[in-house]
Amino acid sequence: MARRLPEPFRIKMVEPIHLPSPEHRRAALAAAGWNPFLLWAEDVYIDLLTDSGTGAMSDTQWAGLMRGDESYAGSRSFRRLETTVRELFGYAHTIPTHQGRGAEQILFPELVRRCGSTQPVFISNYHFDTTKAHVELAGARAINLLTADALDTATPTAWKGNFDLRALRETLDALAPGSVAGLIATVTCNSAGGQPVSMDNLRAASAMARERGVPIVIDAARFAENAWFIQQRDPAYAKVPLEQIAREMFSYGDIFTMSAKKDALVNIGGLCCIRDDEALARAVQVRCVPMEGFITYGGLAGRDMEALAIGLREGLDPDYLAYRIAQVAYLGHRLSAAGVPIQTPTGGHAVFVDARRMLPHLAPEQFPAHALACELYLEGGVRAVEIGSLLLGRDPVSGRQEPSPFELLRLTIPRRVYTNDHMDYVAECLIEIQGRAGTVRGLEFEYEPPLLRHFTARLRPLPSPSEDRCAMAGPATSAATFRATQEPASAALSMA
Ligand SMILES: *Cc1c(COP(=O)(O)O)cnc(C)c1O
Repeated sequence: MARRLPEPFRIKMVEPIHLPSPEHRRAALAAAGWNPFLLWAEDVYIDLLTDSGTGAMSDTQWAGLMRGDESYAGSRSFRRLETTVRELFGYAHTIPTHQGRGAEQILFPELVRRCGSTQPVFISNYHFDTTKAHVELAGARAINLLTADALDTATPTAWKGNFDLRALRETLDALAPGSVAGLIATVTCNSAGGQPVSMDNLRAASAMARERGVPIVIDAARFAENAWFIQQRDPAYAKVPLEQIAREMFSYGDIFTMSAKKDALVNIGGLCCIRDDEALARAVQVRCVPMEGFITYGGLAGRDMEALAIGLREGLDPDYLAYRIAQVAYLGHRLSAAGVPIQTPTGGHAVFVDARRMLPHLAPEQFPAHALACELYLEGGVRAVEIGSLLLGRDPVSGRQEPSPFELLRLTIPRRVYTNDHMDYVAECLIEIQGRAGTVRGLEFEYEPPLLRHFTARLRPLPSPSEDRCAMAGPATSAATFRATQEPASAALSMA
């Protein structure tokens, strides 16, 4: 077997981290309304909340910061960014934005206006949460047409980010002509587990949209990881360089939005790029100025654009990507070897624990994956995030809680930040919880915000399953049972 190569970098600067005591963690989580998003970062030991903007920049990128040109208009750093986008992706128009959602907010209203329908829709393999929010803010409806493979976390198939092409054709045919404002191809598909879209699927979905004059938007946050999976999993691309694969992927889009905080390896930044539709580029620029900033900086400092231009190329480096994907797979193997159910195969940026399988005693409205996130923080100071019913939210029209196709806990790995020793620690915490999974309690809302509720919601734990049982058994046994159910939790807490 080939020897596993270590990290393709040396560490030049370190940032100390500290594990708070179990008592501190309990108090911190309660103060945060049982929502890890509301924890202070210093109360977190290993932070796997997101891979967004949390990566480590290279020495070259830090050097780029010094070179940044802070001219308000027409800076050198913007031109470097624009040239890089042309060379890598072949798109003529580059509009920088403060991050991915900045691109969404200046693009989607224009696509809705152009399609002219009173009931506009966007169709995606899966809309990322802010993407769905901006579709809805633009007055459109978001339709997800993800392959059914993705829902079966136990069966490892290669392309769980794919569009369900049959459903796509049927949906396009069923909708009124001109009502589809855009097709959004999310690569990789974050919400399904960082799962890749195959080149064949992207090509076919793009062709269907083009036949009907529907503009194709690539949501390109993790374009490099998707390109890597295409090279690894599609024999036709095994010998094709990553840059060429990326180039072909982008050839199937007309526009791309990108959160540069992911594969472009910067802490802040985004892009809205348009292949050749000059009128569209102008219209989006008009929206950019009041929302994001002048068209050659879009909310970014010159130095940010400089680091972004460098990061776009570093993100496609094969040594870096081999290390990156292997680290995610390493954590996945540690967990699945111990019987913790995860989305298989592991994806590009995260390991997704299937909380529905791990905590079958919790109903979707008790937010099993969020409950697991809270438990993991209490267990070891590790912060992760729910991708499930809490994230999905309510139907905007009926106000009903929509049934989420997934209840996943996302262990998101920042780029070039943690070592595999950190991954071992995270795995050990989860394996410990797996051993007492039946005691994990569900949650209910104390405060539910109207939009993107997972970010700022406050929750409280429901009585534990055994407390429910003891309530039915009558008051005589309840006190003893209550004590008994408390013990495993406190014993586990003192383990740290
Ligand atoms: C992160 C992300 C976005 C939004 O980007 P921000 O930089 O967080 O605003 C959009 N789509 C996908 C797939 C993402 O992962």
